[in-house]
Amino acid sequence: DLANRMAERGADLVKALFKMGMPVTLTQTIDQDTAELLVTEFGHRITRVSESDVDIDTSIDVDADETLQPRPPVVTIMGHVDHGKTSLLDAIRGANVVSGEAGGITQHIGAYQVALPDKSKVTFLDTPGHEAFTEMRARGANVTDIVILVVAADDGLKPQTIEAINHTKAAGVPMIVAINKIDKPEAKPQKVREELLQHEIIVEDMGGEVQDVEVSAKNGTNLDKLLEAIQLQAEILELKANPDRSAEGTVVEAKLDKGRGPLATVLVQRGTLRVGDVIVVGAASGKVRAMLNDKGQQVKEAGPSVPVEVLGLGAVPAAGDQLTVVENEARAREVAAYRQGVLDKKRTTSAPVTLENMFATHASTTKELPLVIKADVQGSVEAIVSALNKLSTDEIRVRVLHSGVGAITESDVTLAASTGAPIIGFNVRPNSKAREVADRNKVEFRYYDVIYHLTDWVKGAMAGELGPEI
Ligand code: GDP
Repeated sequence: DLANRMAERGADLVKALFKMGMPVTLTQTIDQDTAELLVTEFGHRITRVSESDVDIDTSIDVDADETLQPRPPVVTIMGHVDHGKTSLLDAIRGANVVSGEAGGITQHIGAYQVALPDKSKVTFLDTPGHEAFTEMRARGANVTDIVILVVAADDGLKPQTIEAINHTKAAGVPMIVAINKIDKPEAKPQKVREELLQHEIIVEDMGGEVQDVEVSAKNGTNLDKLLEAIQLQAEILELKANPDRSAEGTVVEAKLDKGRGPLATVLVQRGTLRVGDVIVVGAASGKVRAMLNDKGQQVKEAGPSVPVEVLGLGAVPAAGDQLTVVENEARAREVAAYRQGVLDKKRTTSAPVTLENMFATHASTTKELPLVIKADVQGSVEAIVSALNKLSTDEIRVRVLHSGVGAITESDVTLAASTGAPIIGFNVRPNSKAREVADRNKVEFRYYDVIYHLTDWVKGAMAGELGPEI
């Protein structure tokens, strides 16, 4: 790669490295210092594209407190299929349009904003379901501030409801429960509250802190109450961002349009994105030619928490990709090429998520061992989870992120990938889609058919990790 960029022969570089006392092969990766030396040796100029320039590392580049201003909350709706996620999204949006907020025609761009009575706004991500949520999180993009968990009052908690609860907990995102379909005569909202208790979701009605609102997406009942709940939760979170800086954001949806080329809906997270800005999005670069809001209207700028469809990219990015504004187009191409290189490298060399390196990534205060458990029957699930919970000690805690009956699915894998957990299959195996996603994200599967073999392995891993320190 380096030889290519210098337009030199690879063999000449290898020869030069040999002379420097470094016996390397043509495809071997060399460190940065050696690379710099080599480049100078060949009489070339070094343009350094450093990590800190291209990676959005908020821990380094923090906005000063006095630059921060309140921003709208970003909300994702999750829940079981047919419980009314889409209906609720439509109803909230529809009610808002009717209330006279907007001109223009509703456009589906992957996210939309509604105005509250006090003129503040709420941003909804328009792709319901936890696949999108976890897939983004697995890529390091945490855009959701609040999750609305939709539960149909005539159906109660179902497998995907429980998955959504576990995904939300793993992400540490606060939740509001929308008990939907209360217009139905067979609706039993109180039963939903009781079922939630079993998953440690204690709603206000039951003396807890999780807000719950009975709604009917069909009749538009209590949508205002739901928005109030969001507003209250947002106030508690004190969401802020600096609007006066170059923009950074995350792609929530992208596609190729026949006439207009690559389109990406970007949720701005800080700064203000403007028409004319030179941008890098994932490994694609370009210049913002035009921006459209969720009503299909052209806008000149978009601040924090505002979703806009961006025209002018050279390629179609992926959901979860980061947008960064850079000084000029040469720089954009450089950063894009660098990111492509990092991506390629990651694909071939990134350490798989295994127990051994998982502890490192979770080395916070008390060590935690996150696990996802799937088994063939409910009895086994319960026996395994209870056996694992007993293994927790003061130093290290076993944390079952999700457990359930049935084959290992894509959703299990995305949850595992976003938290670095291995997946344990007890008499079950992953389906092909799950296998594929696991392969991409280097998620480890472990299969057992005897419970004490499983617990022995977990014990061994825990002891191995703590051993040297005791
Ligand atoms: P999703 O799969 O969670 O997005 O669910 P949908 O929004 O597609 O809704 C599934 C079905 O439930 C549709 O037939 C809706 O018309 C119906 N539905 C959604 N909300 C309500 C509601 O509040 N009351 C009643 N009676 N039906 C609803």
